[in-house]
Amino acid sequence: MKVKNLKWGPSGPRPLPHGYKSWLAYWVKNYGGVATVCTNRNCDNKATVGGHVMPPDGKRSNSWFIIPLCDDCNSATFKQEFDIERRHLVGISNQLS
Ligand SMILES: [Zn+2]
Repeated sequence: MKVKNLKWGPSGPRPLPHGYKSWLAYWVKNYGGVATVCTNRNCDNKATVGGHVMPPDGKRSNSWFIIPLCDDCNSATFKQEFDIERRHLVGISNQLS
């Protein structure tokens, strides 16, 4: 499925839930697996961060997800939609903060 990086509005990213050192750690814990390779299907870099993504129409559904990405795919200049496997998505709730 296609996703795109979430672009922050004035309120910024969701706060990291208590007890997690990083969004990547949050993903590992909730996915129950180990993050190794960037989940962008067209990228083989090492996963270094837990990136916030949403479906291309996600602004309406407010469905946000964490997914392991490399620095390149999580950079501010990487704006295109990219292809991932749905099973890699870990949802984040709207009630975290
Ligand atoms: Zn990547």
